[in-house]
Amino acid sequence: MDDIGRRVQAGKPLRRPDILAVLAEVQQQGPWKLLNLANRLRREKFGDTVRLCSIVPGKLGNCSENCKWCAQSTPSAPGVTALGRTSCGEISQAAVAARQLGASRIGVVNSGLSPSARDLDDVIAAAQAISETPGNSIGICASLGELTDKQARRLADSTIVRYHHNLETSRRFFPNVVTSHTYDGKLRTLKAAKEAGLGICCGGLFGVGESWDDRIDLALTLRDEVQPDSVPLNFLVPVPGTPLESAEPLEPMEILTIIALYRLILPDVDIRIAGGRESNLRGLQSWIFYAGASGCMIGNYLTTAGQTPQADLQMLKDLNLEVIGCKHP
Ligand code: SF4
Repeated sequence: MDDIGRRVQAGKPLRRPDILAVLAEVQQQGPWKLLNLANRLRREKFGDTVRLCSIVPGKLGNCSENCKWCAQSTPSAPGVTALGRTSCGEISQAAVAARQLGASRIGVVNSGLSPSARDLDDVIAAAQAISETPGNSIGICASLGELTDKQARRLADSTIVRYHHNLETSRRFFPNVVTSHTYDGKLRTLKAAKEAGLGICCGGLFGVGESWDDRIDLALTLRDEVQPDSVPLNFLVPVPGTPLESAEPLEPMEILTIIALYRLILPDVDIRIAGGRESNLRGLQSWIFYAGASGCMIGNYLTTAGQTPQADLQMLKDLNLEVIGCKHP
């Protein structure tokens, strides 16, 4: 592990055999050395600071896509979530509330494969309303599914600064959990958003049946192909009525190992822990920072509730972590 640490600290990217060697050591001796190293790398890059973000649904439910984990999917989970839209005023209020909690970013998230003309107009209008709210300096992100080049340019011309679009898992495993759209479509969208000048937030979901190879492949694709500004890591919360309702939850130590491995592979990237933190990590939630995370979401997720913001802020205070804003897109 010491050699690996020196390699990362020298700015040399880890190769697959390095990563497999780390995993083998974790399997034999436990994750402690890995967690120590990930914590050191986090502190070298980010000091004792964290970034918080929050999400608000722009359009919820009634999704045409068949992602097996998702309560909003009509093919996979009929009737679990009804279609709803959040008004421009409500989105703006959510941004004010998020800012007051210390969030430096708010993401407007829509269900669906790709935005309609109305969806695009609505999210741009909501972003404008947020930007015009006095004293509400918050970075605005959008997550609207697949984009054409033209749509990406329209978003980049608005007050939206970053586009969120998860790859979710490895290219190899993706068809096991989604068949209604493709990995290539996702990569095309990320390229369009980046070329339009938007910042990129792209991560994954774990606990959907993927292997360690899939987790490593996703991290390497992020590092070598996507090069995102921010990587959100989500951990499955099985929702009754979805095809993954009976999936076995990941163990807390396995989750911490995933986070730490991502810190080693992506040492300079903002790694944020998003959905599934509370129910999967239980009493070990605060360990995400020791495992290398540099931020987390605050407030509720789209279809599951999070820990109260007050409990999150107390946790950060107890860890002597300072909540700060983000300066880049
Ligand atoms: S993850 Fe997104 S695209 Fe997939 S079913 Fe859910 S809302 Fe639709």
